[in-house]
Amino acid sequence: MSLVMSLRSRGGSGSAARAGKVLTRFGATAGAMVRRLDRYDAITSELGIRPTWPTTASVLARHPDLLRRYAEQGVELALHGLVHGDHGGLDEAQQREAIARAADIFDRSGLQATGFRGPYLRYNAATLNVLRELGLRYHSSQAVVYPLCGEADGARQTAYALALELYSARDARRIAVTPRLRSGLVDIPVSIPDDEILIERLRLDEAAQTAQWLSVLEETYRRGDLFTVQLHPERITELAAALQATLVAARKRRPAVFIATLDEIASWWQRRSRATLRVLRTGEGRYRVRLDADPETTLLVRGLNVPRTAWSGQDATADVRDFEADAPRVPIVGVSRRTPSEVLRFLDEEGLPHEVSDASASYGAYVDVSAEDWTEASVLDAVDRAPGPLVRVWRWPHGARSALAVTGDIDALTLFDFAIRSWETRSYASGRGHE
Ligand SMILES: [Zn+2]
Repeated sequence: MSLVMSLRSRGGSGSAARAGKVLTRFGATAGAMVRRLDRYDAITSELGIRPTWPTTASVLARHPDLLRRYAEQGVELALHGLVHGDHGGLDEAQQREAIARAADIFDRSGLQATGFRGPYLRYNAATLNVLRELGLRYHSSQAVVYPLCGEADGARQTAYALALELYSARDARRIAVTPRLRSGLVDIPVSIPDDEILIERLRLDEAAQTAQWLSVLEETYRRGDLFTVQLHPERITELAAALQATLVAARKRRPAVFIATLDEIASWWQRRSRATLRVLRTGEGRYRVRLDADPETTLLVRGLNVPRTAWSGQDATADVRDFEADAPRVPIVGVSRRTPSEVLRFLDEEGLPHEVSDASASYGAYVDVSAEDWTEASVLDAVDRAPGPLVRVWRWPHGARSALAVTGDIDALTLFDFAIRSWETRSYASGRGHE
């Protein structure tokens, strides 16, 4: 399966080019990769940032002491398959066995993994069921694609399109790029283009790589989205400058960017989901607003005369969590009767209190979309442009505008780990198992 995928995604000559390059990245011992992991760790540590490195369990089993050292320095290691195989092609029983055995290898190495990323960013519905069953907190394999910012020739555009197909990527322009709570499991998207696309498929130079990631940072910041950087440690030498420039730019932003590990982002999303925001009519044109939530929760207000701090655009952060205010319209989102119920669920996850009504002029914001043509982006756009008044539980803690996670999968540490990958995958798929 991994061979089929590699042919489909890269073409014969691309595979040969990659094999040639790989020899320079991995060595007979882990020494070359340790230097890359140290460099990665140094770039992030200097800015007070901890990365998440999803690690294939068979690699951890061969190098437990080496990897535990990074975990002890605060790097998060997450599950990345038992072997580096395509979970999109495995049924529930196969995945239950593989992921449970991977989790067991983590446990025996003294590591408690709370999340999972599918090798090749591939998964299916059974993956999510198994992760819930095993009590994991999050899943992070869904690719979300951003437009290329420079000019790309036809061959590069084709290479990019093939990668997007392989990853079943979603278009960032149409959706809210945020974690999602799916029956208790937090689903965290991964931003594309990643390191492999920037280097192998698009062959961008350092300035162009940096410009691309800075444009994703800019776009996620503008929309309050999550930028999940994917940079495999084996490519840190080529992408060190782009990573550093992106993180330095993110650190400078005010309001801040919430920069955290995937586990921290997942646990924040779980805590945030328990927030309750009540809006009550207390009289003619008068409302009481009360937030019951974790202290770091950000309460946004628009067009309401309450103690507040300027934040972004029309919105301010409220300095109080329980207040009464006069308002010419109800400070929540009105939703037309024809609007589909998925939109109501989406508004819930977006922290926007709402009420179904056709009295569009009575609300601080109003959403009227049909089942056929609505997108999350169009709903958020209507809310953004609305004059208010409006209250909202924002996505990120401590008044952060957007979020960013630095992630990089550890698929191999030595040439042996790399060479054995396809054998391990085949041997697992054929039922002979592997340890
Ligand atoms: Zn991988």
